[in-house]
Amino acid sequence: MMCSRVVFRCFKAMERFADRLTGAAGPFFVAFAIILIGLGAICFFDVVMPSLSWPLISFPICLLIVLNLFMHYYYVVTVPPGFVEDPPREPGSSIFWATKNGPPRGELTGVRWSKELVITRAAVTRCRKCGQSKPERTHHCRICNRCVLKYDHHCPVRVNQCVGLHNERHFVMFMAYLVVACICLVATGYPHILRALGATADLSWPHRVPQIAFILEYILAVVMALAVGIMVSYHLWTVAHGETTVESHDHEIYRKVARSRDETFVNSYDLGKRRNLELFFNIGENGYPLYTLILPLRINPYTDGRSWARREGYEAHSGVRRGEELTDEEDEEDEA
Ligand SMILES: [Zn+2]
Ligand SMILES: [Zn+2]
Repeated sequence: MMCSRVVFRCFKAMERFADRLTGAAGPFFVAFAIILIGLGAICFFDVVMPSLSWPLISFPICLLIVLNLFMHYYYVVTVPPGFVEDPPREPGSSIFWATKNGPPRGELTGVRWSKELVITRAAVTRCRKCGQSKPERTHHCRICNRCVLKYDHHCPVRVNQCVGLHNERHFVMFMAYLVVACICLVATGYPHILRALGATADLSWPHRVPQIAFILEYILAVVMALAVGIMVSYHLWTVAHGETTVESHDHEIYRKVARSRDETFVNSYDLGKRRNLELFFNIGENGYPLYTLILPLRINPYTDGRSWARREGYEAHSGVRRGEELTDEEDEEDEA
């Protein structure tokens, strides 16, 4: 018993140390990611682009993909995820902001209003770590040491900050465009990689990018297309089910507990796949136009993070009883 407690404390200490380390190394990861993505774009425009047919069509499309990739990356790194102490945000007026379909209406500030949407105020608790009030779906990030609205996860590797209410859309869009860009490079760069590897009779390499750089970027693109492809599919799957990454873990536990009582767990944020996706990307009626999915523009989420759209007839999840909800405090209670 004593021994297991010591081992547990050791693991906790190691976890904290790893948190601090990844927090400190974050800016280097971001710089590294920018260099790799930038080199990928240079490889594409120098080696592959001149050989593509229909340049009047293919060039603008490729440029749009690269623009989306960089802009969404810039947004996900620079737009704060939404800390609970921040005031509700109004959309900006610069050219980087998309314009909404129709004027915003409704009694709740910052919340998208629609006849068919049932939007209810979030239940509020208090965070035992930072003392801030914590609306539903808010979690305390151990690395940022702050409470984040609709916390998804802390991303030290590529983003160096939390992914939450205000940057989650940019995070998913960035990953999606990264996968599209990698697939484009892999598919259209195939003849060039054969030439770079010397597999064809013509061994000349008439490009400014060195052969070795192109080969390495090509391999990286294959790996990234697969790895990020799996990640973005998982994220879109959770979004389509009205969950964040944290919630998808929590809901799995709630489902088991409910099943053990012959009850069914119902996620009250789940309005059906299509609606969940529309709300996440904030498109459709009373949201933003569809073209915001292909232009690298900024948009506000459908809610201020203090109210949530719910399934009709539900005020809260069903199948979870009061006091059974998982909280961020579990870690500390375990230690105590
Ligand atoms: Zn907190
Ligand atoms: Zn964080």
